[in-house]
Amino acid sequence: MTEPKTLREASCADDYDPNSMPVDRARALIRTFLTPVTTVERVALRAALGRVLAADVISPIDVPGHDNSAMDGFAVRFADLAPAGETLLRRVGESFAGKPAAASVGSGECVRIFTGAVMPAGADTVVMQERAGEDAQGVRIAAGAVTKAGQNRRFAGEDLKAGQAVFAAGQLVRPAELGMMASLGIGEVPVYRRLRVAFFSTGDELKSIGTPLATGEVYDSNRYTIYGMLQRLGCDVIDLGVVPDVPEALEAAFVSAAAAADVVITSGGVSVGEADFVKPLLGKLGEVLFWKIAMKPGRPLAYGRLGAAHFFGLPGNPVSVMVTFYQFVREALLVLQGQRDVGPLPTFKLPLTTPIRKAPGRTEFQRGVLSGDPANGYTVRTTGEQGSGVLSSMSQANCFIAVSYTHLTLPTKRIV
Ligand code: AMP
Ligand code: MG
Repeated sequence: MTEPKTLREASCADDYDPNSMPVDRARALIRTFLTPVTTVERVALRAALGRVLAADVISPIDVPGHDNSAMDGFAVRFADLAPAGETLLRRVGESFAGKPAAASVGSGECVRIFTGAVMPAGADTVVMQERAGEDAQGVRIAAGAVTKAGQNRRFAGEDLKAGQAVFAAGQLVRPAELGMMASLGIGEVPVYRRLRVAFFSTGDELKSIGTPLATGEVYDSNRYTIYGMLQRLGCDVIDLGVVPDVPEALEAAFVSAAAAADVVITSGGVSVGEADFVKPLLGKLGEVLFWKIAMKPGRPLAYGRLGAAHFFGLPGNPVSVMVTFYQFVREALLVLQGQRDVGPLPTFKLPLTTPIRKAPGRTEFQRGVLSGDPANGYTVRTTGEQGSGVLSSMSQANCFIAVSYTHLTLPTKRIV
């Protein structure tokens, strides 16, 4: 099947049913509309943390720069060592890390050497210090201390050769990448510009922190979870506050969000009834599809374009917001940031230690706690009350339990 190019084509595709859209299908469809950012900025190495490389990084030097010792011991000429029995050698110098030996190693000679120190000229092999001893006569190398020439020696360029590609464009810069680039003496790197993401909450019942609550009102928490998830993904966030369920106010908010950002995310207002005026409004401002995703929680979801911006209309319930963000928005943002090899969250099949009741026909994303260790294996349990408004279930969790696949996804723990 060729993928649709426009949202209108998507909505007409044969297997498209907006009333029971499978999670994987919606995710795949969204991906067909994503074009990564192309603007490049050069930033100082530390400022590249959490950013995406916009060009391949080529090593300007050999790493290591010189042949050096992998051990504390003695640098020797392999040919000098007796095939059987002890060998007596004369010590002619010392080579420390950062302070090479002045002497070179001639026949019958050796140099005391330490890990990381440059191999002295003439020597080709290192004998570890545990297989050698020193007395008034000289350095005694035990029989069979090394078995081949070159042992315990690291070669120049063994890790990286000058001119070799270290990282490809699209690589996320994490602490390890910072360290690698520092080890190559690279002080500045090209990265893609950050993605600008605008978001607001909708609902007449929502109050911002700092205002007292009247009966039936609730504090807006979605703007905080969305803020947190976006920050962790390294986006520039534009918080547009709470917008009441008033068509004119919503229209103004959609228009200013779309003008300011690459991606617009809203929560609330896409469920049945509420969508009565949101739908025509979004139809007027852009091209938006309304789906009932075959999942729980997070059934209603809107995706489309508002001008040049991508739009995600997430459900209002606090847990649904996080589940739909991790299932749909996260992956889209990583693609738009220019990251390579983006996929859904990793999933694992694990035994459950608490029973789960599941309604048929939908993928459930229950909140889970994964525990265990390599010796005894891993299991997963639910966090108890699973209502889509129960944010504490999310806070107690360290994974989702994806029930239709009986797989598990790990969203909340960052690797490293
Ligand atoms: P809606 O999708 O707008 O019908 O909202 C569903 C439920 O989520 C309602 O109980 C809302 O009060 C609640 N809700 C919607 N938006 C938020 C928000 N930003 N913070 C906390 N609760 C919300
Ligand atoms: Mg609402």
